[in-house]
Order: sequence, then structure tokens, then C-alpha cells
Amino acid sequence: MPDIKQNYLKLIESVKKAAEDCGRDPKSVRLIAVSKTKPIEYVREAAEAGAVDFGENRPQELAAKQAEMPELRWHQIGTLQRNKVRHIVGKCALIHSVDSLALALEIDKRAKAAGVVQDVLIQVNITGEETKSGIAPNELKGLLDEINSMENVEPIGLMTISIAGSTPDENRAVFSELKKLADRFGLKELSMGMTHDYVEAIECGATMVRVGTAIFGARDYGAK
Ligand SMILES: *Cc1c(COP(=O)(O)O)cnc(C)c1O
Repeated sequence: MPDIKQNYLKLIESVKKAAEDCGRDPKSVRLIAVSKTKPIEYVREAAEAGAVDFGENRPQELAAKQAEMPELRWHQIGTLQRNKVRHIVGKCALIHSVDSLALALEIDKRAKAAGVVQDVLIQVNITGEETKSGIAPNELKGLLDEINSMENVEPIGLMTISIAGSTPDENRAVFSELKKLADRFGLKELSMGMTHDYVEAIECGATMVRVGTAIFGARDYGAK
């Protein structure tokens, strides 16, 4: 096992410093430890070091880990298929990756049945890469209007992923664009930044960064 506690503590210091360096309150940035593909012992180590927010991209894996450690806050960060929504509604603090009306409707239906209001972020594809999930920026208003009319889904912000291998300036351009969109629609939460670009994301206003590799080490199968 990598030294998860030390990795986490180093990272949280770096996140704080990145916030302070651009004049932000460090408390305004939440670190989400992305534990996808990693065993529950890894989660436990990070939790002992102080982590409370964890990110997963496979709904069944999220549900299984949540059942073991329900005191933690679980985040669905990856592409979510409609038929998997039932596994996580009521079990995750936040779904980061709403990218269609059909998905939002399914979340609303399942949340209603479970008697909860599910907080969500809308994933926006700023870069226009075809391989990437997320709606185009010009589709945001329409989707937001629809979600705002649903009783059991609460849109609290936006999420995006920058292009792997981009320069810091290219990442800043992507993240600033998301920040502008969020401001335009009065949305508070901005989930952006991963191991390689969380500093730029914080500079551009991220309220949540999703970091896996820097805490838990490289992943060796399947996950993206
Ligand atoms: C896997 C993943 C992350 C974490 O990536 P790292 O490079 O390991 O920090 C963040 N966000 C999403 C959507 C992911 O799928």
C-alpha cells in the first residue's frame, strides 16, 4: 500500500497553499479523494488521515463502499447510466455528472421514491472533445430550466474535466470558462481539477477538486 496518510496530508497542505496563493479561503475548497478501483482499506487509511469526501465512478462500487463506511460523504464522479441510478440515490452526497434530461428525470424519480432530494452537478464539456461526456455550454440553460422544475433534484453547480496532457494555460482557459458559466446562472459549486491540474482549477474558482492518483497511487485497471 502506498503511504496514503502522508500523501493525503501533503496534498491537503498543497490545496490550502494553492487557495491562499490566490487569496481564497482554504475552507472554500473541498478535497474529494477519488478511491475508484481501490480497496476499502485504502479508504480507511485516508479517512484516518482526515478525509471525509470520497469519489467513485462505478455505482455498484460506490454503494458497496458506502455500506461499509456510511459515515463518509460519497460522490458519483463518472459517467452515470440511467439503469445504475437506483444503486446510488440516497447513498451519495452529490452526483457530479448529470449530462442529459433523461438522466435527471431518472434521478428525480428514484429520489422521490427514496424520499430524498438529490444534489447534483451538471457536467459541461467545455473542450468539445467527442469522447468526453457532458453537455455543450449552449445546452446548459435548457437543461437547468428542466431540472429546476423537478422536485427531488437540486442542481448546485457545474463539473468539467480538462483535456489530459494540456498545459497549465490551456487548463486555466477551460476552468475559467466553467466558472463564467456558473456565475452566469448563479450556481455556487464548481467541481474541477484532478491530480495534474488541481492548482489551476483552484486559481479559477474550483470549490471541489477530485484527486485520486496523488493520494492512492496509480490505478492499474479499467478506470478512466
Ligand atoms: C478518475 C477521476 C478523477 C481522479 O483522477 P486523478 O488523475 O487520479 O486524480 C477525477 N475526476 C474524474 C471524473 C475521474 O474519473
